[in-house]
Amino acid sequence: MQLPAHFEYRRASSIEHALTLLTRHAPEARIIAGGHSLIPMMKLRLAQPELLVDINDVAELGGIEVGDGEVRIGALVRHAELLASPEIGKRLPVLHDAERVIADPLVRNRGTVGGSVCQADPSEDLSAAFSALRAVADIAGSDGVRTVPMRQFFRGPYETAVRPTEVLVRLRVPLAPAGLRTGSCYRKVDRRAGDWAVAAAASAVWLAPDGTLAEVGIGLTAVGAREFVAEEAEDLLRGRRPTPETIAAAAGAAREHCRPVADQRGPVEYKRHLAGELTRRTLHAALECAGLVVSGGR
Ligand SMILES: Cc1cc2nc3c(=O)[nH]c(=O)nc-3n(C[C@H](O)[C@H](O)[C@H](O)COP(=O)(O)OP(=O)(O)OC[C@H]3O[C@@H](n4cnc5c(N)ncnc54)[C@H](O)[C@@H]3O)c2cc1C
Repeated sequence: MQLPAHFEYRRASSIEHALTLLTRHAPEARIIAGGHSLIPMMKLRLAQPELLVDINDVAELGGIEVGDGEVRIGALVRHAELLASPEIGKRLPVLHDAERVIADPLVRNRGTVGGSVCQADPSEDLSAAFSALRAVADIAGSDGVRTVPMRQFFRGPYETAVRPTEVLVRLRVPLAPAGLRTGSCYRKVDRRAGDWAVAAAASAVWLAPDGTLAEVGIGLTAVGAREFVAEEAEDLLRGRRPTPETIAAAAGAAREHCRPVADQRGPVEYKRHLAGELTRRTLHAALECAGLVVSGGR
């Protein structure tokens, strides 16, 4: 059995305390939340922090709240908690869809939303979902809290906007302005239940009263999409009426513009095909969720 290198361990009692510990030991300190990504990396010696700052006692980092036109999800919210939340199921079904296919109950009971997005694994499911929803991240540092859109949060594989001396506090998802109908959906193809994605897609739609798409978000998982987003596909739909043809064109753009790599989960062409097809299916499902059935969705 592989063991991590020697490290010190401290439990932070508040965000301030965590920031103090991180700053004092930067860049050799790392936050630990659920530990489901960091501990395996430490065992493989891919990460060798000298200090682990445990944030599990920091109550300010927990909780799901709805109000002021947004949903606020604390960084320490566990996958299982997100999945069990009726508010999330009702307002942001894409997150429930994604959570249902993340690993198994063991991982979901312990792993956190913040840990998932901070890990920024290209195959991680929540990143595409939050990017499609156009969420923003609140990040605390010594100068206070700064806000970063999810679309600028991911800097590349395993790299995010969160600096070594900062703590991700929460993600905020804007709710639809009055008059717009919304819907969202996530679909994943995996080799067996609970496995990492071969490919996956997330779609979120904001429908105007005249039936055009006021806004649309399309996220892609595990296919090398920049910042987990199919921007070219979104551009083809924004301001237009969703039809089988416009949806097919967007799916084609998602397929064309992603950059998957061949690995044990499949060849490039198969992953490209999945990116397009899952984009098409999630767009239809998100529109249906918003009350608009477009033919050809099945
Ligand atoms: C067997 C297995 C299968 C899995 N399958 C899937 C899957 O199918 N899909 C999927 O999406 N995920 C999957 N995961 C990953 C799972 O979702 C983890 O929960 C997640 O990657 C990390 O969350 P964590 O809370 O455990 O983070 P940790 O391991 O504690 O931390 C991960 C990283 O985030 C940093 N971090 C954590 N919290 C914060 C914060 N608040 N502020 C700043 N930095 C922070 C840490 O320093 C570390 O660098 C799987 C994991 C395992 C072990």
